[in-house]
Amino acid sequence: MVELFYLGAAVAFIIGLKQLGSPRTARSGNRIAALGMLLAIVNTLVSEDIANWTTVAAGLAVGTGLGAWFAVRVQMTSMPQMVATFNGFGGIASALVAAVAVVDADLGSIAPETSVSILVSMVIGAITFTGSFVAFAKLQGLLPGRPLLFAGQNIVNGLLMVGLVGTAIWGGARDEAGGYWVAAGLALAVGVLAVVPIGGADMPVVISLLNSFSGLAAAAAGFAIESNALIIGGALVGAAGLILTVQMTEAMNRSLGHVLFAGFGSDESSGELSPIGDRPVNKATADDVAIALGYAESVIFVPGYGLAVAQAQHALRKLADALEEQGVTVRYAIHPVAGRMPGHMNVLLAEADIPYEQLLDLERADPRFSDTDVVLILGANDVVNTSARDDPGSPIYGMPILNVDRAKQVIVVKRSLSPGFAGIDNPLFYGEKTLMFFADAKAALEDSLTALNAL
Ligand code: NDP
Repeated sequence: MVELFYLGAAVAFIIGLKQLGSPRTARSGNRIAALGMLLAIVNTLVSEDIANWTTVAAGLAVGTGLGAWFAVRVQMTSMPQMVATFNGFGGIASALVAAVAVVDADLGSIAPETSVSILVSMVIGAITFTGSFVAFAKLQGLLPGRPLLFAGQNIVNGLLMVGLVGTAIWGGARDEAGGYWVAAGLALAVGVLAVVPIGGADMPVVISLLNSFSGLAAAAAGFAIESNALIIGGALVGAAGLILTVQMTEAMNRSLGHVLFAGFGSDESSGELSPIGDRPVNKATADDVAIALGYAESVIFVPGYGLAVAQAQHALRKLADALEEQGVTVRYAIHPVAGRMPGHMNVLLAEADIPYEQLLDLERADPRFSDTDVVLILGANDVVNTSARDDPGSPIYGMPILNVDRAKQVIVVKRSLSPGFAGIDNPLFYGEKTLMFFADAKAALEDSLTALNAL
């Protein structure tokens, strides 16, 4: 029965994960997976011989309380940091499970595959723990976002890795607990040193990779303590995290090797207000925007990070509704890396109940721009940066963009000419067809709606 319930939990994880693939089913997928986790926890508590219920209850209460508190308080734009902390705790939890196995087991009598599982779980879990918290600190501004490099860094990292593998093999082969502890300690250092040279701009990719690591550590811990639910759950997280990592690097036109070893990544954030372009732009007001939209037959909105910062999704919906009432065809073009986390724009627009049918992904949006009257860009920058398409010298050259400049008119809503995440200027802003409406996205949308109603 116990194994059957674990199997039920694993099936719930798989159905949940499958449902997360579409915004329409994502909420129920999340609930099903959470139910699966509850089943696994209750099953474990009921089937195991729990020596100290007070400790278990206290752990559950503190964990649930802290988790709920953070989940309710976190800003949408801080979600990558939240995921980083989850990964870090997941990694250390697996490492601790493996550490308990070392303490409890008679190392001389355990099977070689068990000692390998213990070592893998401890090492990967420890790397995930410190790596995730360095990533968190970079994103939170507690550490500088720029790559932190020092002389001989690659040599130090190489020596550490050799030492780590060496002590792990030595500890495992000779059944010496000391080898396990030294390997775990070195792994903690590797986690820090592997992530500090990576720039803030690449941190979300690193977090996705560490998410995959936390799954691998859990799966290895599952082998160490012979828990099928942990093996399956961990493997799912490991595989899903890896797929996401590959998709993110592809959408940013980067290779994983480049992210991990090139010491690249911009520190500049979109919050800076100093203009970097001093070329003239065509400025627009809310009235101009209302006239352009009101007389258009088709409009495509392009949401970006700034829309999330301004929390302007509901204002956007209201403007879109008003336009639709006037017979204007409204659509939304979503770039896969718009915002600061995968699916960020989908989540944001779903909050305002924007119909999924109106959302166009990169491929579906592309052919539509040329017969669209107005494209309204809301706090997006890099995902519409034409230098990624036209300028081989650009740091983001090759990154697929939304070709908004093919529309008849482009209006960009942002507060200034300051750059986006990649920290580079955008030639689109100076284009003949482009109007710049310098304002906070929410205020801009509200003012445009007022002006539209007054037309
Ligand atoms: P960008 O970061 O390129 O640009 C956002 C723009 O929003 C800024 O130029 C800023 O300009 C503007 N902005 C900020 N606050 C407001 C506001 N209150 N009102 C109006 N505008 C505002 O965003 P994109 O979405 O275009 O691109 C995402 C970037 O993030 C890409 O470079 C991508 O590679 C990167 N990235 C995305 C990940 C993901 O998973 N989605 C993961 C990792 C990286 P101003 O200050 O002038 O207002």
